[in-house]
Amino acid sequence: MEDCIFCKIVSGGISSQRVYEDSQVLVIRDINPQAPVHLLLMSKKHIASALDVSEADVPLIVRIMVVASQLARKEGLAERGFRLLTNVGREGGQSVPHLHFHLIGGRQMSWPPG
Ligand code: 5GP
Ligand code: ZN
Repeated sequence: MEDCIFCKIVSGGISSQRVYEDSQVLVIRDINPQAPVHLLLMSKKHIASALDVSEADVPLIVRIMVVASQLARKEGLAERGFRLLTNVGREGGQSVPHLHFHLIGGRQMSWPPG
């Protein structure tokens, strides 16, 4: 999709630190990390947010969860724990309208989130 930062990252038009890639999923390091580990797991196809996920996207979403678990182990977060989340819309704090999950860890998280 034109004018979408993450579509440009997927196509290579904007450079990023790629951590993992397959036919459906791209994982990069967040440019403004909120913890020692801060990965962004995004769908390669443009989906605006979790609100726009459909039945046809079930394999993609499961794939993202599997990749998240593999990368959490690889980054040394499995024992300590971590957070996996997606922000939706204005009040949800979503700043990039292209479906992505934050995998954040390496420090103690607090609850409730701000
Ligand atoms: P959101 O606010 O939509 O949940 O998350 C968007 C995230 O994308 C933010 O954490 C922000 O730091 C990150 N981000 C925005 N632009 C870029 C970019 O060009 N490169 C990378 N690696 N991360 C970005
Ligand atoms: Zn996009």
